[in-house]
Amino acid sequence: MTGTILIENGTIIDGTGAEPFAGSVLIRDGKIAAVTKGPAAGGDLGGRAIRRIDAAGQTVMPGLIDAHCHLAFDDAASNAEIFHQRRNALSALVAAYNAKKLLRAGVTGILDPDSTFENMIDLRDAIEAGVAEGPRMSCGAYALITGVGGTAGRLIADRGVTGYYKVVSNPHEIVEEVRRQVKVGADWIKVHVTGIVPRQAHKGEMCVWSLDELKLLCDTAHALDTPVMAHCRGAEATRRAAVAGFDLIFHATAMDDAALQAVIDRKVPIAPALTFQANMVDFGARIGTSAALVAMFEREITDSIPTITAAYRAGVPLLCGSESGFSLVPYGHWHHREMEVFVKYFGLTPVEAIRCATSEGARAIRMEGRTGALAPGMAADVICVRGRVDRDLGLLGDPANIVTVMIDGVEKDLSPLPPRRPIPGWRLTAMGSLLTREVAMAGLPPGEALHVEELH
Ligand SMILES: [Zn+2]
Repeated sequence: MTGTILIENGTIIDGTGAEPFAGSVLIRDGKIAAVTKGPAAGGDLGGRAIRRIDAAGQTVMPGLIDAHCHLAFDDAASNAEIFHQRRNALSALVAAYNAKKLLRAGVTGILDPDSTFENMIDLRDAIEAGVAEGPRMSCGAYALITGVGGTAGRLIADRGVTGYYKVVSNPHEIVEEVRRQVKVGADWIKVHVTGIVPRQAHKGEMCVWSLDELKLLCDTAHALDTPVMAHCRGAEATRRAAVAGFDLIFHATAMDDAALQAVIDRKVPIAPALTFQANMVDFGARIGTSAALVAMFEREITDSIPTITAAYRAGVPLLCGSESGFSLVPYGHWHHREMEVFVKYFGLTPVEAIRCATSEGARAIRMEGRTGALAPGMAADVICVRGRVDRDLGLLGDPANIVTVMIDGVEKDLSPLPPRRPIPGWRLTAMGSLLTREVAMAGLPPGEALHVEELH
């Protein structure tokens, strides 16, 4: 029980796609009791104890729901680091620290698709039990792949578990592993329907599952009331995933007409998770990414404009996922960014994009219709943000603007986190860039260069 809270004088964006309006939000016992246009609606509350929050100059909106966030990865710079440097208990403890960054960024819910040691299931349970503090979590376990592998080529072992992956090689293993994951507490089953074959990498990711295998997997999971999510880059994978019965498709890039139609026919929600690419496009040059690679990342977004836009206009739900957990999308910095991608590339209005990150996002945490919108009866997962978010989505990117975050009407501690120090053996260390003689001798006077050469 959290008593009664009145958030007043703010600009309300209710998460349904409706236009913003000045008003107030009344919260009672962790749920939204009323949303009122105009001046504060607290007049008839009589003598009830009430906490008033003055949101003048602020936007009051549902908390962000990040449909694709890997809390176990700890901003890793490579798959090798995730596969070989991580330890089970320590990565869960580090994830608990990082989860607090998400709260400070206004994130009140995430879907964590897959994790090393499946240990985000443990963090989820710890958060639900009040032992750790973080957003609502919905979890996958290991991402299922066939023997062809996932997105890390030969780094992935032929059998068993590598990092966040698990190989299933035949129908028996598919059924066995889905049932095991449901038993250990997976909210979703994650499948990498496409993978990179190193020898054929120039073709992009390939579909590495048969339709029959995907159907078997979906039927097994659905029989246990567990939805299934697919990583798909490519037309055939997206089509097969939609036809097989997947409940959510990540990326869905490079769709053809058949894939698009299959997605539209079944209204399969899509989380493009293009924040990673957008960061490369806008900021890659600052971290030394080559112009050619930046152009390739931008094509991945722009090539999908016609299909993703058509899907959205046909009623396919779009969800916002950041892919946080990798060094290009560190925790706490970019959870709002997918909305900017939707506006810039797919033509959504800011309030439509906010709807994708809130009420539509609730699908990702299996709370559709129960959170993600400011409406009576919804869970009071509410944030207050300095300024008008509908005029500048980028306001959400600065934690200094996030002044109130509540989940179930309970206000979260947003005080600065203690600084973190390096953990021995945790990061994959690089020796730096290539030390050619040209690099080594640049700027040295000729005599000095000669001297160095003589030493060898
Ligand atoms: Zn991912």
